[in-house]
Amino acid sequence: MIRSRIAASAFTLTLATAAIIAAPGRAHSATLYRTYDGTGWHIPTGNGIQYLGTGSWRIQFYDTTSRTTLTPYAKLTAANITKATGVTVTVTTTVTKSTTACPTGRTIIMRLTSTVTRSAGSQCHTATGAADGSRVSIATSNWTAVTLNGSHDIYHRKVVSHELGHSIGLGHPKTWTTNPSPLMRGDVWGGNTTLTTADDYTSQDINGLKALRANATKLRPPAAAINTLNGATTQ
Ligand SMILES: [Zn+2]
Repeated sequence: MIRSRIAASAFTLTLATAAIIAAPGRAHSATLYRTYDGTGWHIPTGNGIQYLGTGSWRIQFYDTTSRTTLTPYAKLTAANITKATGVTVTVTTTVTKSTTACPTGRTIIMRLTSTVTRSAGSQCHTATGAADGSRVSIATSNWTAVTLNGSHDIYHRKVVSHELGHSIGLGHPKTWTTNPSPLMRGDVWGGNTTLTTADDYTSQDINGLKALRANATKLRPPAAAINTLNGATTQ
């Protein structure tokens, strides 16, 4: 129920933002303003996310089983995020039992768990709207059962890249082109579907990652407000 309320709030804010960007008379300076939506990507301002800063991120694990299972996939995604944004993401060996929804200092805590039936990543932010910290819960049931193109490993790569994409600030795109669809599209599991590309963000996702990063040095659109709800979880 909480999630529904957050989603409705995000929708309203995004519409307001879009109207401001499109307003005649501001077009001459539009490139100075942050952008939150494009074809195949979305930045969820309703969750408080405005941009991705320069600071490095670190991935930790809830327990040793999660660490053993998830580390190879986390490393693949970390490299892809760094390649797209220039932001360093380090996969540590640290195990922490912290259950906070919003680990601070750009820390992501990953957990493979049977306590959820859908994988999810929380989205947290600083006071100025920088993405900051996340908990990623990967549902054990899906991890064990789901295949894509007949492969468990393709699903594993995609679900980790998808949830970590949420962690650093991307939402689900509202519009997209197909072949390949954005990896951040969600349940449809678009994107590249071979073992060599399954963890790769598509060009549409990369446009979103670059916009997220570029927003750090742009101005907020006038009258656009950061929803102060923090720790909202998106699946
Ligand atoms: Zn999602």
